[in-house]
Order: sequence, then C-alpha cells, then structure tokens
Amino acid sequence: MRDPAGAEAPTRSGRGVPVVELRGATKAYPGGVHALRGVDLVVDEGELLAVVGPSGSGKSTMLHVMGTLDKPTSGTVRIAGYDVSTLSDARLSALRARHIGFVFQHFHLSAGRDAVDNVADGLLYAGVPLKERRARAREALAAVRLDHRRAHRPNELSGGEKQRVAIARALVGRPTLLLADEPTGALDTASGEVVMELLHQLHASGTTVCVITHDNGIADSLPRRVRFRDGEIVSDVPARSTARTARTGGPEGGTS
Ligand code: ADP
Repeated sequence: MRDPAGAEAPTRSGRGVPVVELRGATKAYPGGVHALRGVDLVVDEGELLAVVGPSGSGKSTMLHVMGTLDKPTSGTVRIAGYDVSTLSDARLSALRARHIGFVFQHFHLSAGRDAVDNVADGLLYAGVPLKERRARAREALAAVRLDHRRAHRPNELSGGEKQRVAIARALVGRPTLLLADEPTGALDTASGEVVMELLHQLHASGTTVCVITHDNGIADSLPRRVRFRDGEIVSDVPARSTARTARTGGPEGGTS
C-alpha cells in the first residue's frame, strides 16, 4: 500500500500499527523549560482517550508533537507507523493532511470566511479541487448539524456553533486521528455536551480521538485517561477491556 507520505506503508506483526507512538519524547524550550521529559505513549487505532493534568504540565506540547505541528527535541514520533523525523516537509504535510484532524479551544476559524469555506480549508493540503472541497464541506457541516448556518461567518455564530464548524473542518479530511485541545474549554455546559457527543460519534465511526481536558467529568466519561505532571505521564488508566499498565518512565514492550 502506498501512502500520501510517499513511502511504502510499514507493516508490523502482532496487534498492528499504532496510530501514534511516542518514545522518549522530550521538548525543551530556550530558557530551560522542559515541557516534555521523556514521554512514552502508544495510542492504538480506535481509542478514545483523555489527557489531563495541571496547566503548564505539557499536555498541549504533547498534542502538538503528536500532531506533527512541532518536533520533539529528542525521542521518536511515529504516526501510522512512519517515523516523522525521516519525512521531508512535503511528505509530512501529506501525512498530516491524510491522517490528522485538529480542534482547538478557541476554534481558529478564519474571520472573513463563511462556514463552508472554513471547513473546505480543511482539505487545502489534500489536493482536492475547490468544487469538491466545498461539496465535502457542506456534507461535513450537515454531519455536525449546521447546514442552516453554512453561509454564516464566525462572528455570526455562537461559541458552540463555531466549535462545530471547527469539528467539521477537522473531519472533512476523514482523519484517522482527531486531536482536540480543550475543545469545550470556551463553551457553556450545553454546547460542550453537544461537542463531546460529536466527538463520541466520530469515535464510534472509527476515528481515534484524543482530547485534552480540564473537565474531570469529561475525563471520567472517556475510556482511557492519561495524566500529566511536570512534563511526564504520571498515570495511564486504561480502557477496562485493555490490559495496559501505567507508563511512567520507560518504553513498554510489544510494539517496537
Ligand atoms: P499545558 O498544555 O499542560 O498547559 P503546555 O504544553 O502548554 O502545558 O506548556 C508546558 C510548558 O512549556 C509550560 O511551562 C509552558 O510555559 C512552556 N511552553 C509552551 N510553549 C512554549 C514556547 N513556545 N516557548 C517557551 N515555553 C513554552
């Protein structure tokens, strides 16, 4: 099988290729901040997990590293089996466009563009012609039940509606992995519930979903919970059906 990343897709024995694999990932910023201190995390296809921990503990940094928006200072990042450090920028962009969708706390929508064009932008780097981008954007907006708002610009939408547009933009590329950084953090409770319901639906349809949250209620409602402190994973509570141990300090066997 050939992937947009331009290389033969890797094959693995055993339980298959994890969607994300971090091994010994560190991230140091100038000034001596160590945002990640040797993180080992494996996320398998079809998982739904929460990443929790105090502000400043490294959650967003890890999400950026997992999403290939940022590079670790050291350690390995594999997405769908590809070691991202071996890919050119163009192949990395293709891999990201093919596999990963992002949702951010503050939506990151373009102010001057309507909902359809904001969502269509999610296919900008996937080589899809404009007409098809817009057609697929309309479908994605229908999937988040926003057909009636598709000609509206962000300033004409509520917070919850903006986040649903952002989710439509993330899902329009049919990603394997959806990374959401505090997706309900700027929303009232009811809008947050709608957003979480959409993420659960995406998960049920086969997407792997990783959600950073400060909300314990949300974290407790997700099957797996990874807890950060000071740039390290301090606990990893698995889905009940999966025998997975806490990964505090060293790679665990089975996939490498
Ligand atoms: P969280 O998402 O858990 O709130 P972050 O990953 O945003 O934590 O931040 C972890 C640490 O890295 C913090 O001390 C933060 O100040 C620092 N940090 C994050 N991004 C940068 C950056 N671009 N430059 C310098 N320090 C940063």
